[in-house]
Amino acid sequence: MGSAASIVLVAAGLWSWGYPGGTPEERPASIFERPAGVAETPTAYGSMDKSIIRGVIRDHINEVKACYEAELAADPTLFGQVMVQFTIAATGEVVASVLQKSTMHSPPVENCTVAAVRRWRFPKPLGGGIVIVSYPFVYTPEAPIVLVPGSNGANRVELQPLSTRMVLHRTTDARSIPSNGLIAITERGLLLVDTAWTPAQTEAILRWGDERLKQPWIGAVITHDHADRDGGLDALARRSIPVSALDLTVEKLRQRHIGGVSTLFSARVGQVDVKDARGFEAFYPGPGHASDNIVLQFDALLFGGCLIKSAEADDLGFTGDADLKAWPGAVRRVQERYGKTTVVPGHGPVDESKTGAAFENTLRLLEKKR
Ligand SMILES: [Zn+2]
Repeated sequence: MGSAASIVLVAAGLWSWGYPGGTPEERPASIFERPAGVAETPTAYGSMDKSIIRGVIRDHINEVKACYEAELAADPTLFGQVMVQFTIAATGEVVASVLQKSTMHSPPVENCTVAAVRRWRFPKPLGGGIVIVSYPFVYTPEAPIVLVPGSNGANRVELQPLSTRMVLHRTTDARSIPSNGLIAITERGLLLVDTAWTPAQTEAILRWGDERLKQPWIGAVITHDHADRDGGLDALARRSIPVSALDLTVEKLRQRHIGGVSTLFSARVGQVDVKDARGFEAFYPGPGHASDNIVLQFDALLFGGCLIKSAEADDLGFTGDADLKAWPGAVRRVQERYGKTTVVPGHGPVDESKTGAAFENTLRLLEKKR
């Protein structure tokens, strides 16, 4: 396994004791400060600059990385966030270190991380007070998590965590064509965005969610009716996972005698978007790759589906159902609405440039096709 791991250092923010608002996820590193000599009354301010804290953590990052790598060798599907709360004494020594929260479900990694932090030494806090820090170590494997290896590039299932809340699923069909979907880890449970090519591949993804993330599957959204988006619907039906899609997609499915998919919103009555309580916005920009293609926006990420090609794509892929005249307008509407953001296309690499490269490349390919 070697060095197949990376750790995301999250910016540490300074917070006074009892600072209101936000879940722990929204304030990735909370630093609670106590006054010098009166440790039991957390009302005044001691201080340590967040950049100093981050610097010390960075100096020692290989120690916690080793905790992860040791277990990753045995279980290549491990990933998650381990939140450690530790106390820096007036001497700069760490005098306490505890596990505050974890999404990893791996006691060896959690215990090892907590123990590593306990050994660290920081500069003396300003004013001689103590400082209590909550720090989320985010562990993600560098290599994709392979659930089903397939053969010769075909029939493969792999996962790539994009953040603590978002995992890309990438599967290949019998002809080795890769396709992207998402697992969104929401407050309520897991949401699947598009299935894999087949029910068996989709079931492999669902099972990983059960076993690794230990949260219920609360639903699935299909971003248009093609096999790379909904070929695995049977796996969802077997588990009675509620599936929803644009009304135009529901209608196309019905024509293929596939029921059980409910309407997320209705393009036919002129509705172009919906805000869903599960934490995303769905938008219908008009026909493009297909008459029913929608995009989904989560916090800092846009799932463009097959409407948006990857920044590296050199052709438009399958255009048998495309509206080549309308497609550029649909891409521009998505670009105008969501701007420069991380874009997950239906196929190919994620565009993390935040420059709109995937939109621009799609428009370029459409221009060439004219
Ligand atoms: Zn398609």
